[in-house]
Amino acid sequence: MSTGDDTSTEVATAAATVLVVEDEAHLAAGLKLNLELEGYRVLNARSVREAAAQLVNAAPIDLILLDIMLPDGDGYEFCRQLRAAGQFTPVIMLTARGTAEERVRGLNAGADDYLPKPFALPELLARVHSALRRRQWLQSGASSDLQDATGAHGTLEFGAAQINFDTHEVTAFGKPLRLTQLELDLLYYFSQHPRRVLTREKLLEGVWKLRNAPNTRSVDNFIVRLRKYFETQPDKPVHFLSHRGSGYKFVPSEDGKT
Ligand code: CA
Repeated sequence: MSTGDDTSTEVATAAATVLVVEDEAHLAAGLKLNLELEGYRVLNARSVREAAAQLVNAAPIDLILLDIMLPDGDGYEFCRQLRAAGQFTPVIMLTARGTAEERVRGLNAGADDYLPKPFALPELLARVHSALRRRQWLQSGASSDLQDATGAHGTLEFGAAQINFDTHEVTAFGKPLRLTQLELDLLYYFSQHPRRVLTREKLLEGVWKLRNAPNTRSVDNFIVRLRKYFETQPDKPVHFLSHRGSGYKFVPSEDGKT
């Protein structure tokens, strides 16, 4: 692993704390060193048990990098437990092989993003940075520059859904839902570009802040989740429509379906 010298991070996330859950000592040490060089505070955990202890004792943690194969459990289960416990710290899964199945499993467990090993350091840093930036938008009050840049506030109603981007309160079909930050961010982006076909590349750039992302299919998993939350029939969507080969279109009302 080498440091990329063109990955400097200009946004003020310098004090953010990253928990690296990784049992391979050399990889954990490399991640710690490089994240520290970027100005992050880094904590290491070598097992699920240590990670759980860090989350309790070392809070607040702003981001978790989570390996899947750990000596006392697996990252999917740990992530699922965090989400079930109402812990919505962004999670980036570090997947060993990065097969589509593994990625979907990770995303379904509540991860915000994934990175297949071996990964390029600049990509890891870009994803860390982007996850923290999203968290910052969602946490920041009305006055920060980032908030102004994104305008991420207000409410959205469509179909059986009500979303408040300020309070993160989401209901669908009369029931409250907890969405991850990235899901909210994607939903917000759609709400700002209704009835327009948005390519995967466009969504990755607008929401994930990734340009020339190597794998644009990661978007698909998030669309699956939004449909599951908000569509009466997720397999026959009327709000989150696919445009085969090109991308997706958000249609707030069923009338404007075409
Ligand atoms: Ca491992």
